[in-house]
Amino acid sequence: MPRPPHMGIMWGRPPGARGERGGGSGPFRSERGAHLVHYHVKGFRTGRLKLRGKTIFSAHDPEGVYDFTMYVWLLTGGDAPILVDTGPKSIAELNRALAKMTVEPIVQDEGEDVLDILASEGVSPEDIGAVLFTHLHYDHCSNADLFPNAVLYPSGKGVAEAVARLDTGGCWVPGEVIYPMMEEWKSRVHLCGEDEAVLPGIRMRWLGGHTPCSQAIIVDTSAGPVALVGDTIFTYKNLELDDPINVCESVEECRAAMAWARESGALILPGHDPEILARYPGGVVV
Ligand SMILES: [Zn+2]
Repeated sequence: MPRPPHMGIMWGRPPGARGERGGGSGPFRSERGAHLVHYHVKGFRTGRLKLRGKTIFSAHDPEGVYDFTMYVWLLTGGDAPILVDTGPKSIAELNRALAKMTVEPIVQDEGEDVLDILASEGVSPEDIGAVLFTHLHYDHCSNADLFPNAVLYPSGKGVAEAVARLDTGGCWVPGEVIYPMMEEWKSRVHLCGEDEAVLPGIRMRWLGGHTPCSQAIIVDTSAGPVALVGDTIFTYKNLELDDPINVCESVEECRAAMAWARESGALILPGHDPEILARYPGGVVV
């Protein structure tokens, strides 16, 4: 799929082609170090459920029952607030889809819907300048329609694969997201490269493993790089045990992603670990 034109609405100047940035003036000069951005990274729970070990791990404790937390992330400190993943549109629909997998269904408490979360931060949906997707599963992307001014950043390789599978019924991206990405949202979709600095202080790195569109989002902060690795690494324990998730297309890609995460030097934020909110009270990572 050809890269669509990149219409930056909230970003100071039209970003245009990536290579134009370094020579320009204003906020897009960071590649040459003229304008460093250190983001604040804050996580918010959008729901919680319980799963068996055999879902979370390939080998560890198959019958154990584990808490699992769903998140969205807000990155501030750049030109406009950035959202990482959007949370689920409908908890009821998600519960229907995951009924065979969950030990206890998903519960979303009051205030955990993405719009309530943003309102609590004083951010309106129109303020969001970019939505970065760790991947395009329903629980991570189905509110993508709520942010009319945001440039959307899915994995380009992943979207191409999702589109190729539309006719076979094997597409894992909800129709309410993949079709608008190809049509009415196309002018503000940025298809991310496999290792691309997409914004000042933000790099996307393709991981695969969990889905063909899984990518890490590496964010510059005052505490060093922070990597949101999405569902290719569900929990810290997957990393500690070097035990890949068991909801994946490629175990090898999951192993490679974990090896990269360990060696990256970044502070790693896994996709669904409740431990994140224990390590970072209030979800404030930096
Ligand atoms: Zn997922």
